[in-house]
Amino acid sequence: MIIVTKSGATPAEIEHIVERIAEWGLKTEVSHGAHRVVIGVIGPEDLIREKPIAAIPGVESATPVLKPYKLVAREFRGTESKVKIGNVTVGGPEIVIMAGPCSVESKSQITEIAASVRDGGARVLRGGAFKPRTSPYSFQGLGIEGLKLLAEARESSGLPIITEIMDTKDLPEIEKYADCLQIGARNMQNFALLKEVGRSKLPVMLKRGMSATIKDLLMSAEYILSEGNFNVLLCERGIRTFETMTRNTLDLNAVPVLKAETHLPVVVDPTHGVGVREFVPAMALASVAAGADALMLEVHNDPEHAKSDGEQALLGHEFAELVQQIRKVAEAIGRSV
Ligand code: PEP
Ligand code: MN
Repeated sequence: MIIVTKSGATPAEIEHIVERIAEWGLKTEVSHGAHRVVIGVIGPEDLIREKPIAAIPGVESATPVLKPYKLVAREFRGTESKVKIGNVTVGGPEIVIMAGPCSVESKSQITEIAASVRDGGARVLRGGAFKPRTSPYSFQGLGIEGLKLLAEARESSGLPIITEIMDTKDLPEIEKYADCLQIGARNMQNFALLKEVGRSKLPVMLKRGMSATIKDLLMSAEYILSEGNFNVLLCERGIRTFETMTRNTLDLNAVPVLKAETHLPVVVDPTHGVGVREFVPAMALASVAAGADALMLEVHNDPEHAKSDGEQALLGHEFAELVQQIRKVAEAIGRSV
């Protein structure tokens, strides 16, 4: 249910609305728009509908959300959400670039890449410590040791870090080190994991499953928000199609569709979307033109010897050149990098 308050509703009236709803055992999320305050009511819809919300002073209207996703729906908040990763804001005018290797491999590898992507224009460092690999015989990541190396790279580079969580049992350990949690494509519908990160204080980037519809992605995000964590980023990373010339098919349709459907910021990962180094820059530029709020790009200092995804990683200088081009596209649409 979405409550729109009367224009000129006083802070005391807003507080009263929130208190009255709390008395009914329901939660609220208050968003301050330019002219009105929008209050989203969280709880079972049929229970909410029974309550005389429209009778509370200061309420102009109370409208049920008819979509299957409620809290992520754009109308739930009068404004777009901004999500902070460390001191970096995603969802504002700046397009945030997250970059780094697929996997953390060693201290020198991650600290070198961190410095290189920072100098090239990245604002967040990515790196996998727990890796979801198709084969159990492939490199599985350094685990907790990888988290420690990431934290050291944050120290040396000043960049906040994002890293993938695959298992609910790892959350307490990952929370000690990470600034943002990543849920990978393969876990987009791991509902136990979604609920667990929904109870975390850290922001979460949720990647679209490789065979998931946009609606599936939104329903999965709803799990996280319904546990109380509204700091969620949605990431398009390519879907499986019949195409074989690229690793996946980057569904850029998802960007304007998601922007229309949800208040959550939208990230695009052209690296996994294409899977071929030489095609990544074109799709990164297209992602920005399509309206992405952030990009995630894999960068490696020695892709030939990378333990995962070397064939799609940009070199440091290629990344820096790409950021210059991204800046031009961003400026052309009234944004910055
Ligand atoms: C990754 O970011 O390294 C990764 C494994 O991505 P995805 O979950 O999109 O395949
Ligand atoms: Mn990867």
